Amino acid sequence: MNTSDNQTNTIFPKGNRAPAEYFMGTAWVKPLVANDTTFNSVIGNVVFEPGARNNWHTHPGGQILIVIDGTGYYQEKGKAIQVLKKGDVVTIPPDLVHWHGASPDSEFTHIAISTNTQKGVVDWLQPVTDEEYYSLINKENR
Ligand code: MN
Repeated sequence: MNTSDNQTNTIFPKGNRAPAEYFMGTAWVKPLVANDTTFNSVIGNVVFEPGARNNWHTHPGGQILIVIDGTGYYQEKGKAIQVLKKGDVVTIPPDLVHWHGASPDSEFTHIAISTNTQKGVVDWLQPVTDEEYYSLINKENR
């Protein structure tokens, strides 16, 4: 262990543990821009350790994800998991049920920009089951 363990990439510090009630596994959130009535946005850097993901959820004002590092998953309800890599940008419309997180074998880092926060930031739903999380791997191995 050395001092670099506090950072997983060269851009932002790791921040604080994401709340266990809404995240499976270990994730870290570094707030970058706080909510206010000028920008109506919340921006944070999120690091997911391998296998970590958030619960199903919606954003009343939408969300934009910008992938910084690693390989991750994004899934919209009723659709297949999409694999995300460094440089990918995901635009999530308001009220769309979805989740995001790391793939099983890779750490994953994205910037999350929640927009139009005057409508609300996030509404949490149920955890992503292992069956849902491993659906992509199970499909590939079938
Ligand atoms: Mn989201």
